[in-house]
Order: sequence, then structure tokens, then C-alpha cells
Amino acid sequence: MKVSLMHGAGGEVMGELLQRIFSHLTRTNAGGIGLEAMDDGAVIPINGTNIVFTTDSHIIRPLFFPGGDIGRLSVCGTVNDLAVMGGKPIALSCGLLIEEGFDVAILEQIVRSMNEALEESGTNLVTGDTKVLERGALDGIAINTAGIGVATQIVRDSGLETGDQIIVSGTLGDHGLSVLTFREGFDLGEQIRSDIAPLWGLVETALEAGEVHAMKDPTRGGFASAMNEMAKKSNVQVLIEEESLPVRKSVRSAADMLGIDPLEVANEGKVILGVAREDAEEILAAIRSHHYGHDAALVGTVVAGSRVIMRTRVGGERFIEPPVGDPVPRVC
Ligand code: MG
Repeated sequence: MKVSLMHGAGGEVMGELLQRIFSHLTRTNAGGIGLEAMDDGAVIPINGTNIVFTTDSHIIRPLFFPGGDIGRLSVCGTVNDLAVMGGKPIALSCGLLIEEGFDVAILEQIVRSMNEALEESGTNLVTGDTKVLERGALDGIAINTAGIGVATQIVRDSGLETGDQIIVSGTLGDHGLSVLTFREGFDLGEQIRSDIAPLWGLVETALEAGEVHAMKDPTRGGFASAMNEMAKKSNVQVLIEEESLPVRKSVRSAADMLGIDPLEVANEGKVILGVAREDAEEILAAIRSHHYGHDAALVGTVVAGSRVIMRTRVGGERFIEPPVGDPVPRVC
């Protein structure tokens, strides 16, 4: 068997590969949340403090696109994986893999973007590593970051309970469609911008406003993948109201034109939350009061069952399936 692009698409095929190669690893993270949970990060309890730990590699093309660049992405990807575990980011590492011949001025620009996102997140880089590969061994640059956070309240992606309300923190599909349309040179009149943003501030606001049972950031595979993973791990069914799903008009029309489902492409500044019904309105209001959450919406309800079902605008119902492949590769 050889590794294919499908193995990096974040879906079931990738899960099967990870299961195959990692399932025999020795586990020593007793009492914490480890690899077997396949959550957004691990949790290591040390003397009563919950240390959250995560890592993410970034290989996006092009390196600069409307709304962001690989530098901002490489910080936000990791900060957000900490945030959706309930972790306040406290330190990041940065591993740079650079192809021989890469322009140093571009590298400086990327690091400036990283720094801006770090400042916004209230954290900084504390360690790193740089390797240069011979020309042709790599397409320009790849950036890995790892992050450590501290969580007062751990939130898992498997914590949905029947009766919970589903909130999304803003419009869906912006990042994937912005990178794709920019990369392919489509002129759509109105430019679509990526939503890349560090989300700890927004998540903290939500956690303070009420009971949050589950969180996940809908990155690779988009809302469809993340929502299915949350439902599956929580052993529940989720009913989504299509009418409530926030999708920008420009994103919807670009997606229609390209035959892509905006629910299946990556977001880099959004979070899906499962919250206690009685706290839903308060949490929604808190998220909307945050500058990254103005378009937040209540989009669904958790019931007994095992699927993600969407009630369509015309009154029908259809399954929201997890995407098999990656409709838009190399966006994160
Ligand atoms: Mg994640």
C-alpha cells in the first residue's frame, strides 16, 4: 500500500491509515486525553493543572491569499486546536522546512504574520527548528507548529448531549473558497476572503457565558466533517436547519459555480459548539459580541440517533455526509 493524497484529506481514509500505523503505540498518558481520542489536542493533567498539547503542519498554496498567509495560518491552526479543547494558549514552537532557493524576504514576511497572530493570541514562540532541503525536495516551505495551553475546563469534541443546541461562530466555507478561487484565478467580482483568526478570545467569552459541552474547529473537511465527527463520537444525532447555516452569498455562488459544497471546505476562524439548551441564547449573544463572532448562529439541535441530518429550505431532509476526499486540497 502506498500513501495517497486521500490519506491526508482528514476524512475516514486518513483515520484508517492513522489507526493502522498508530494503534500499536504504547500509551502512558493515564488520566488525560491521548491519541486514541483523536480530538483536536491532548490533555495532560499535571498537579491539578490541565496542560493541552497539540501540533499542526501547514502546506498551503499559494503562500499568500486574500485574508491571510501561511504564517498567520500556522499560528491560528494550532491556537485554535488548543482553544477548542478549552485551552488558553501559552506557548508555541515552530518547525520550518524550507526549500533551497526560497526568498528570505518572503520568509521575513511570513514570520511577521506569525508574530501578529501570536500577539493577538496573547502568546509567543518559545522554541523552534529550521531545516533546509535541496531544491526540488519540497515545494517552497512547510511550517509545523506545536502549542501548549492551559485549560480550566476541558471541552471535548465528543461531549454532545441530547437536547444541546448547535452554534457555529460565523459564516462557513470562506477559507476554502477564498484559497481555491484565488489559486485558480477566478474573477468573481466580489473577492472572497479567508476567515483565518485566532479564536481563544471568542472561545473564552463563550465558556464564560454558559455551559459548553462540545467544541471543534471545522478545518479540513469543513462543517460536514467536523459535525459528523462530533455526532459519531458523542453517539447522538444532529438536526441542522439549512436556513440557519450562515454562508456568505459570494461563497455560495462561487461554490455553486465550482460544484463544491461550502459545508465541505476548510474554515480557519470558526468553531462549532454544542451547548446546554438553557444557556444557548446567552452563549450565542456572547459570541456575537466578539469581533470574530458577529455572524454566529444557532443552527441545530442534538437528538437521539446517529447521523447528521439537514432540514432543507424546501422542507425536505437529507444526510450531511462526511466528505470522502478533499474537494479543495492544500488549503491548510
Ligand atoms: Mg481541529
